[in-house]
Amino acid sequence: VADYQAPVAEYDFLLRRVIDAQPILDASTGGEVDLADVREILGHAGALAAEVIEPLNAIGDRSGNALTDGRVSTAPGFTEAYKAYAEGGWVGIGLPREAGGDGMPAVVVAALNEIFSAANMAFSLGPGLSVGAAYAVFTAASDDLKRLYLPPLVSGRWTGTMNLTEPQSGTDLAGIRTIARQRPDGTWAVKGQKIFVTWGDHDLTENIVHLVLARTEGAPAGLAGLSLFLVPKHLPRGDGTPGERNAVHTVSVEHKLGIHASPTCVLDYDDATGWLVGDQHRGLAAMFVMMNVARVGVATQGLGVADRAYQRAAAYAAERVQGSVEGRPAGTPIAEHPDVRRLLLSMRSTVSAMRAFQLQVAAWLDVARAQPNTEASALAEFFVPVLKGWLTENSVQIANDGIQVHGGTGFIEETGAAQYLRDARILPIYEGTTAIQANDLTRRKLVRNNGATAQAAHALVESAVRSLARHDHPVAQRTVQRLNAALVSAREATATLLEQAKDNPRDLLAGGVHYLTQWGLLAGGWMHARILTAALDAPEDSDTARRALDADFYGAHHLSRIPSLTEAIRAGEIV
Ligand SMILES: Cc1cc2nc3c(=O)[nH]c(=O)nc-3n(C[C@H](O)[C@H](O)[C@H](O)COP(=O)(O)OP(=O)(O)OC[C@H]3O[C@@H](n4cnc5c(N)ncnc54)[C@H](O)[C@@H]3O)c2cc1C
Repeated sequence: VADYQAPVAEYDFLLRRVIDAQPILDASTGGEVDLADVREILGHAGALAAEVIEPLNAIGDRSGNALTDGRVSTAPGFTEAYKAYAEGGWVGIGLPREAGGDGMPAVVVAALNEIFSAANMAFSLGPGLSVGAAYAVFTAASDDLKRLYLPPLVSGRWTGTMNLTEPQSGTDLAGIRTIARQRPDGTWAVKGQKIFVTWGDHDLTENIVHLVLARTEGAPAGLAGLSLFLVPKHLPRGDGTPGERNAVHTVSVEHKLGIHASPTCVLDYDDATGWLVGDQHRGLAAMFVMMNVARVGVATQGLGVADRAYQRAAAYAAERVQGSVEGRPAGTPIAEHPDVRRLLLSMRSTVSAMRAFQLQVAAWLDVARAQPNTEASALAEFFVPVLKGWLTENSVQIANDGIQVHGGTGFIEETGAAQYLRDARILPIYEGTTAIQANDLTRRKLVRNNGATAQAAHALVESAVRSLARHDHPVAQRTVQRLNAALVSAREATATLLEQAKDNPRDLLAGGVHYLTQWGLLAGGWMHARILTAALDAPEDSDTARRALDADFYGAHHLSRIPSLTEAIRAGEIV
């Protein structure tokens, strides 16, 4: 099996020629880091991922975690790999400098997250949650809490978790029952049970920092009554070292379809000592900081698994010989069967679109952080649910295609192709299911400003089409025509949904996931147009033939799906 190749050169091309990331780097690092440095950083990440973290992917899948006497032990090799990851400074690389991090912008973090997720998704979830927890503490916690908890979270000495879900309260957080009572000393006694807590307990670090959504006594019902609490596994002593064990107990570890190496825990809080993060009854706002980081992160996990599934399938198809390949000499491998070629090109062209789209959203987030309430922040808000929903649904499809390329061998666990599908399957579920992303996109991001951001995004696609139209390359011309046709259909879908929102909101919700998919497909075509334009502008170092092939395939096979989705959206709810 071919080793994992981190897409370092691809990111270099995208960051330089498609996204123009240097001004973003300047703004976030004060001019200290340039694109050559980023390439080097990604190279180091790629080496750690390929040499240390990926070799544990199958091991973790097979051995999972064990819960013995209330303690979770992780799969063999994970402790050492995590140590290498934390000591390499990878946890805090994207956290703000004021929080003790390196301040790398989201465009760099996105690339790093892809690489580590591709190598071992179950592993990379742990540090990903620590980053979210550090953000929440940095943004909302008191100075005392920041002093005590930020350094170990940012360095990776401790990890963080996110505790929202309870048995009766999954998507709808209004049903949360975990309760917090204030003690005379100002701390809080947190009581209740949380389920599905990712990396909720483990033996990688000496302490774990749980961020827990709970209801204070007498708080209003529903979402408005939620507050956020920080509850450590061990109560820190004055000098910051972990002391007495807190009353949070691991009740069980779930048996799951995939990500076996990631301990998904049921945690019982039995009057555990906690501290309020942010204001009382403002818990959801504080948790949203964490959830937004996590949504983009989960989208990127999908990209990582998808690219890894593609790389494995492409390597297999280049060697496996089966049947006579139409129009090719005897002994030609299956990669040349037109249908296997279709599968591989579908995977590759979609991965390219996903990667560029993810970088574009990261770039808007970076600009929005420096200049809130601008077009960049509106675009970031509009596209985050599209990114989360589309990339994660694609990851399942691409991992599935990867198995198909392998034939029967793909169904056999030893090959490794099946693990990607099992791992990817959680991605469209956690951090808000695809339906929840679609509700956010349609109800909040589309309808609330009467389609203004959608129109702005359509105009951006049009402008990319105009740039591409200047090239008389045949694929450029075909892509221009396909994008123009897709835009007409996508605008029609937008107008239809805005009407449905007034007339019958059930119709709007019935078509929401289709609309999200349509935006993903259109964003992918838009990205291919920009990639192709950049490649044709500087063909000497741009791998232009491959990029043109990907754009052509994507246009014919994926952009072409947009009108059928408009048709389904127009039908509304079928009753
Ligand atoms: C492996 C794993 C790890 C997890 N990690 C964490 C974690 O670290 N922390 C944490 O707090 N939680 C975690 N979760 C929980 C996860 O976020 C929830 O499972 C998810 O939000 C869905 O909630 P639910 O399972 O209760 O499903 P439900 O909310 O019951 O949803 C069931 C179905 O109904 C649909 N549905 C529900 N409401 C609506 C609606 N309003 N509109 C349209 N459709 C709707 C959903 O889309 C879904 O298809 C994890 C779950 C798993 C399986």
